[in-house]
Amino acid sequence: MGSSHGKARVIRKSYSEGIHFVPMLERSYELFFDLQDLTGSELIKITGGLTVAKKGSDVLDGIKNSAKTYNCEIEILSPSEMKYRWKIFNPDQDMEGVLDLMGGALFPERIIKANLDISKDHGADLRFNTKIVKWRSTGNGVSLETEKGDIIYGDTLIISSGAWLSTLLEDLNLPLFVERQVLFWFNPIKNSKIFLPENSPNHSWEYEDGRTIYVQPNFGQGVKAAIHHDGYEVHPEKINRNRLNVNEEKKLRSIMNPYIPDLDIDSIDHAVCMYTNTPDREFIIDFHPNYKNVLVISPCSGHGFKFSPVIGEIVFNLIITNKCEFNLNPFSIERLL
Ligand SMILES: Cc1cc2nc3c(=O)[nH]c(=O)nc-3n(C[C@H](O)[C@H](O)[C@H](O)COP(=O)(O)OP(=O)(O)OC[C@H]3O[C@@H](n4cnc5c(N)ncnc54)[C@H](O)[C@@H]3O)c2cc1C
Repeated sequence: MGSSHGKARVIRKSYSEGIHFVPMLERSYELFFDLQDLTGSELIKITGGLTVAKKGSDVLDGIKNSAKTYNCEIEILSPSEMKYRWKIFNPDQDMEGVLDLMGGALFPERIIKANLDISKDHGADLRFNTKIVKWRSTGNGVSLETEKGDIIYGDTLIISSGAWLSTLLEDLNLPLFVERQVLFWFNPIKNSKIFLPENSPNHSWEYEDGRTIYVQPNFGQGVKAAIHHDGYEVHPEKINRNRLNVNEEKKLRSIMNPYIPDLDIDSIDHAVCMYTNTPDREFIIDFHPNYKNVLVISPCSGHGFKFSPVIGEIVFNLIITNKCEFNLNPFSIERLL
């Protein structure tokens, strides 16, 4: 019921959202590849990641800037080069493409399973469908109360409840905006081989200033596409996951069709998900301001999955060593109070 499903997630390294994310991403890539080697299951696939936007736009400048600062490999492509290289793309004449050679896909269901299996092998006590209704911190530790009335004790509490973060942190009154997001899968009607991951990258298109759609290759379930943000506010307990609203598919299709005309206009599947957004679209990685044994974690704002292993490592280091090699200032709780 959370925000980590949907068969494929985007990973990319040259990061327009801010160069402070790049060192964390470098570590994330290492950890994803380590996890993949450990499990023998395909968890990450490098396909390249193409961002297409108006030449000179902030998003393209941001990617180029982070690539320059951290020596990430990118290629800059004109509209005719993009059309020639991938026959399925139809960019506007005033657009430019930046191809991040480390862009690719993560497979979230397999990654979560791998993490659960490994943590279980290392002694974790995993409890599913166990709702926490209350928590307390005392000088000596923390306690949790489940919906069924069981009490669980521990040294440290990590609250990472996604769209339900505000529910478990009512005292902080965090300015979080939970946004409905719908993912769609489409079949190609032409050039279906080019939509395969061997032949085309992830691609995102800035169709208006600051507004994008993203599309992933066909990993076997169809071509996944969605509008990034632009959803309306929802409550995680009340969101309707079963029904589409009239315009949701139509809107995506009308934006996508001119750029990628070879996809069928009717989707074959969809999934409803939620973005939990902070006002500045940074994450939350910080101790609770009133309790030093409670850590609040939210890899949120619609771009956090690719950071999940490095954030896991950061959490471990904060709890065990109280040190972190990354600058966590952008992710402080104080900025939101
Ligand atoms: C449609 C969509 C596409 C995305 N695409 C990308 C992408 O391409 N690349 C990328 O990097 N990121 C992407 N993201 C963002 C990223 O996937 C999410 O931000 C991230 O996975 C959220 O993880 P989380 O652990 O914070 O939250 P969740 O995955 O929602 O996990 C929170 C969990 O806490 C549980 N919980 C809540 N309250 C309680 C309680 N009281 N007691 C017990 N359990 C509780 C919930 O049931 C849930 O399982 C996308 C997000 C969405 C929605």
